[in-house]
Amino acid sequence: MAGVYISYPFCAQKCTYCNFASGVFPRELEPRYLDALRTELHNTEWPWTPETVYLGGGTPSLIEPEALSGLLSAIPGGLWQEATMEAAPGGITPDKAAAWRRAGINRVSLGVQSFNTRELARTGRKHTAEVVECEVAVLRAAGIGNFNIDLIAGLPGQTLESWNQSLDWVVSLNAPHVSVYMLEIDQDSRLGAEVMAFGKRYGATEIPPDDQIADFYEIAVDHLARAGIARYEISNFARPGFESRHNMKYWRREAYLGFGADAHSFDGEWRWQNPESIEDYLRGSNPERTPAEPIAERFFLGLRLSEGIAGDWSPFQSAIERGIRDGLLETEGNRVRLTSRGVLLSNEVFAEFVGAPAT
Ligand code: SF4
Repeated sequence: MAGVYISYPFCAQKCTYCNFASGVFPRELEPRYLDALRTELHNTEWPWTPETVYLGGGTPSLIEPEALSGLLSAIPGGLWQEATMEAAPGGITPDKAAAWRRAGINRVSLGVQSFNTRELARTGRKHTAEVVECEVAVLRAAGIGNFNIDLIAGLPGQTLESWNQSLDWVVSLNAPHVSVYMLEIDQDSRLGAEVMAFGKRYGATEIPPDDQIADFYEIAVDHLARAGIARYEISNFARPGFESRHNMKYWRREAYLGFGADAHSFDGEWRWQNPESIEDYLRGSNPERTPAEPIAERFFLGLRLSEGIAGDWSPFQSAIERGIRDGLLETEGNRVRLTSRGVLLSNEVFAEFVGAPAT
C-alpha cells in the first residue's frame, strides 16, 4: 500500500538555515499553484488507495482550510492511516486545527527547531517555547494528539544548556515523535553560504564546532531514550507505535506518488521528479522516468533504520568488511546496521558504498 506526498513550497519567511527549494514567493503564485495541484491530483489515475498522506514544504499550514479540504478530497481513501501536515508554530488557532481535523489531517509535524527564543529569533522564526506549548494543547483539543517536533542541533549560539532545555521541553510536552537534524552547511541556505564565505551574518561565527554538534546529537539520543522516545531512523525518534508510517514507506522502498513542485514519485519500478521551481511546475512537464535500482536502494535506505536491513549483501561484501573494521557497521546474521559512530558519519558511510557493485 502506498503513500501520497504533496509539496507546498510557500513560507511566510525564509529561515536562515533552510536549504529547501521553499521560501517567500509572489502572492499571485499561490492560487495558481493550488489550481495546478488540484489539476495534477484530479488527472491522476490511482493504481491504489493510499494509506498515508503527507503535506510538506514549505509551510502547508498556510493553506486556507477550504483549499486544503479541496486538495485532500481529490485523494482516494479519505480515512487514511496517517495524514500529516507540516506546520510552522505561531499561527495554529482552534478553528484552524478543527478544520484540519475535519479535512482528514490526523498528524501535525511542527517545525519548532529550538525552544530557545534567542536561537529562534536569529534564524528568522517568530515563535517561542510558550507558543509551541499552547499550540500543542490546541492540536490535542482538536483531536490531533499525534504530532512531531523538529529540532536542529548546531544552531548559532546553541550551548549544552540551551540544547538540554530544548530536549526538556520536548519531553515535558510528551511528544510522540521527534526529528533531530544536524545543521547542514551548504550554499543553498543563507547561513551556510555565509559560513562558506567566512562571513559573520546570521550568527555564522557562533555555530558550535562539529564535534559539539555530534555530542548534541548523542545527548538527544540518550535524553529521548530515557523518556521512552527511541531512535528508529538516523534523524527520527518515536514512542512505540508512533513511528511515521509515511516516512517508513521511503525507507522500506514502498511506492508513493508526489504532487507539486520538486515532488518525487516511485511506483515500485520507476522513479521520477516534478520540476523543482514553481514556475517550471506551473508551465507543466512530463518528468523523465528513471529505472529504480532495487538492490542498492534497499540497502542504502534500509541502512538508515536502527533495525538495519536483512538480506544477501554479498555484492557489498568488501565495503561492509571495511565498514566493520572502521567501527561504522555491525552485522547480526544476515542483518547489517550502522553503529552509533556509523550513524554520526552516515554520509561518509553512504559515500563509501556508492562505488560498490549493486548487482
Ligand atoms: S525551515 Fe520551513 S518555514 Fe523556514 S523557510 Fe524552510 S521550509 Fe520554510
